[in-house]
Amino acid sequence: MQNLEIEINTIVQRVLTQLEQTPSHSNGASLSYRGVFSQIESAMAAVETAQRRFNRVSLAQRKNIIQAIRKVSIDKAQEMAEMVVEETGMGRVADKVLKHMLVAEKTPGPEFLNPDAYVGDDGLMIEECAPFGLILSITPVTNPTATIINNTISMLSAGNTVFFAPHPNALNCSLKMIDLINEAIEKVGGPPNLVVAMDVATIELVGRLMKHPKIALLSVTGGTGVVDVALESGKRAIGAAAGNPPVLVDDTADPEKAARDIVAGHSFDNNMPCTSEKEVVVTEGIADRLMEAFTHANALVLDPKLLPQLEAVVLNEKQTGPNRKFIGKNACVILKEIGIQADDDLRTIVVEVDKEHPFARHELMMPVLAVVRVRDFAAAVDLAVEMEEGLHHSAIIHSANIYHMSEFGKAINTTLYVKNAPSYAGLGMGGEGYTSFTIAGRTGEGMTTCRTFTRFRRCSLVGAFSSV
Ligand code: NAD
Repeated sequence: MQNLEIEINTIVQRVLTQLEQTPSHSNGASLSYRGVFSQIESAMAAVETAQRRFNRVSLAQRKNIIQAIRKVSIDKAQEMAEMVVEETGMGRVADKVLKHMLVAEKTPGPEFLNPDAYVGDDGLMIEECAPFGLILSITPVTNPTATIINNTISMLSAGNTVFFAPHPNALNCSLKMIDLINEAIEKVGGPPNLVVAMDVATIELVGRLMKHPKIALLSVTGGTGVVDVALESGKRAIGAAAGNPPVLVDDTADPEKAARDIVAGHSFDNNMPCTSEKEVVVTEGIADRLMEAFTHANALVLDPKLLPQLEAVVLNEKQTGPNRKFIGKNACVILKEIGIQADDDLRTIVVEVDKEHPFARHELMMPVLAVVRVRDFAAAVDLAVEMEEGLHHSAIIHSANIYHMSEFGKAINTTLYVKNAPSYAGLGMGGEGYTSFTIAGRTGEGMTTCRTFTRFRRCSLVGAFSSV
């Protein structure tokens, strides 16, 4: 009987989907991808209908839908990773596959929405996590599809619908991911168009969407500029912005392990994650051993004489940030520009610089790692805090001294703090806990989950309730 009901539901959903998508020329729905539209109002109408249907979907069915999204994300990980690298020209396919697996498996689902309950002489009060409605999610070029999967699982688990605004340089792969997600949802009998997007991506369009009256909440994953714009929109915004995560290595660290972990974290997807090690601050007593250890850890330590040549390649003309041409490129591609041949699997270019050097001060998002030597632990803490610039994003320490770990953690005050491991342990990869690819250090929600995308609602029942 139950199977028959599910089957009937599936057929009804499919017919409704076809009805919505057949007149696609006139209503602006894109012919090729599910959930993709060429007119804002068509997309809004479709997602509004989807939200109304989703409001009536049972919790069990919501869990089925999330499970289907996890499965398609895993099944298509390789294909989508290849498509992302092909379209954006950034990152490494194998690492992007790992990102897909991570978000598919470790983004919390509806089970994370436990209500708080208070029972006493006056009865019962529960606080429940209710959906906001339609969320605008602005996604970055650095993790386009992984952020879409992560945000979809978080936002739909909480009963919301999503309007995605992908980065223009990752539009095709983002729309393909949205299509796959909608297809997976429909296959288990869920409503069509729970996640939608436009078939074009421009900054002007994102600005219009931010102000659209049907958008209930903004979630922005990107650089500082776009988060600033969202915070000025007049709507509530969850802002996951840039970081410049420092790594502190003190005299008590194991230099070989520290070098291996730093290279692994720093070079993951060619340094594109916002959480990746961006510069190292090392104390004098261990600095030479750490530099030597990098040479055993699949990194190339650059001859200081070649630094001006590397600067000319890696930085923009004004030296105020990275040369966008080399963001996310393999180390060997960057080295080739300065006449050095290297294998494709070389992970990182390590270069010792002074503390004011732009390599240490700017988020480069490429496999070039600045190392700055300082006198002692106190100086290392001060410099690392200065380099993090109060972004409250991520920091890493390699140390065997628990007091140092605690002191640095208090001083740097970041959303993610990783001890004696690659930075990605903080994302739950090789470390405990759930994952998120929208880390809202800027607005304080931290590692976002489905709970982040809910409104808290209180319901009171007065009278004897407890049976204790
Ligand atoms: P970006 O800021 O260039 O773009 C991010 C998104 O914002 C894109 O969809 C883009 O189209 C849109 N956008 C940019 N400027 C806009 C404007 N003025 N108005 C409206 N929309 C605008 O960033 P990116 O290059 O795609 O991603 C890399 C940046 O994102 C890095 O700084 C990285 O640290 C950060 N990031 C942060 C997190 C986090 O969770 N905190 C996660 C991933 C990336």
